[in-house]
Amino acid sequence: MTNRLNLSGPACGDDRDNSAITVEQARQTIRDFVTPLSMVEQELLPLLQAMDRVLAEDIIAKLNVPPYNNSAMDGFALSGDAIPRQGVRELTVVGNSFAGHPFLAACKTGECIRIMTGGIVPDGCNTVIPQEQVEILGNTRIRIDGRARAGDNVRLAGEDISLGQTVLKRGRRITAADLGLIASLGIQYVSVLRRLRIAFFSTGDELCAIGGELLPGQIYDSNRYTLFGMLSHLHCEITDLGVVADDPLQLRNMLQMAANRHDVVMSTGGVSVGEADHVRQVLSELGDIVFWKVAMRPGRPLIFGRLQQACFFGLPGNPVAVMVSFCQFVQPALQCLAGEVASPPLILQAVSSSILNKRAGRTEYQRGILSQAADGSLSVCKTGEQGSGILLSMSRANCFIVLTAEQTRVEVGSIVRVQPFADWL
Ligand code: AMP
Ligand code: MG
Repeated sequence: MTNRLNLSGPACGDDRDNSAITVEQARQTIRDFVTPLSMVEQELLPLLQAMDRVLAEDIIAKLNVPPYNNSAMDGFALSGDAIPRQGVRELTVVGNSFAGHPFLAACKTGECIRIMTGGIVPDGCNTVIPQEQVEILGNTRIRIDGRARAGDNVRLAGEDISLGQTVLKRGRRITAADLGLIASLGIQYVSVLRRLRIAFFSTGDELCAIGGELLPGQIYDSNRYTLFGMLSHLHCEITDLGVVADDPLQLRNMLQMAANRHDVVMSTGGVSVGEADHVRQVLSELGDIVFWKVAMRPGRPLIFGRLQQACFFGLPGNPVAVMVSFCQFVQPALQCLAGEVASPPLILQAVSSSILNKRAGRTEYQRGILSQAADGSLSVCKTGEQGSGILLSMSRANCFIVLTAEQTRVEVGSIVRVQPFADWL
């Protein structure tokens, strides 16, 4: 097998590599490069089908919420002027206003209305006195004292949302609360952006699909499963293209075919400097490489580029490196491509209860278990061996311990930065 790649680069055990860009540079480059799906590519969906989709338009309130002044308590609605400064006062109950059954007339001096929570506060009233504070004298007569203040227990029209207000912005991924919010405005259909189309495959002559018997020198392909798992929570259309051998021609065919029909193509393996690593060469012939190496561990070899109109990620082969690169680079890129305006991941500070070994030169994403003591303080320990192939370290973890490039060995008791896993990991 021929190798036309540059063999002069350092092996992946070295931590200093001047040809690698920093994690931040890689993120910025991806942000600059990725253009969100065109706003033309939108679908109008019934509200119930819009969960987890990205809004293509702002949602603007076409009514007040609540639409009318209504009662926050069960009691009696009256004018604030009727509340006695001292002593007590008797009022005549002239009607009922229950939720869904309004009192349509106005309330005059000396009168009040029996009202239930959610009932419209009628004209002439601006106050609700809870029934516990009222003395009932008969069917149509009550006595009140001076405890209440004008305006008490009334929810004003437009108090939650006012007519014309933008309640959700374009680019928002719709949550359960958003569905309710949109429904509360009476909106039946929403415009959302189309789903991203994503294809992925594994590369490697050593890979055996589960169900098959391992021959000498083979391992089971696990990367397609982690990728499937991570992608399936991102609400895109995914195509699993299987395994491609370490053969430039097959790789070429697969890449061309995948790029035709997808917004993003991803491969794992074959991006390093070994004799069987062809992805970089083939991509440079078919498309463009934007960057290749990132000063991080695990996951230094990582290709980001373009393949026809598609974005391409050549992820490393090592299973943990695949997941780390996906979380740090692919997932934010997919959000951006999907038109989503997302907030950056939460980074917390915790006390390390493990010694963390590290050399200067690369950002490290060690796998940790974050826990909280009774007093609320956070501590984190590492999940054992941190080799980039050891998936158990990911499976046991609930966070990344993020160590900066300059950082070296961390002692027990030191404060470290942690990035809790998203719920889809
Ligand atoms: P590579 O970059 O192709 O040399 O792969 C690096 C390491 O990851 C090698 O030990 C591969 O056997 C392993 N590897 C590559 N692809 C996969 C995969 N799909 N599933 C599990 N391990 C893999
Ligand atoms: Mg390989």
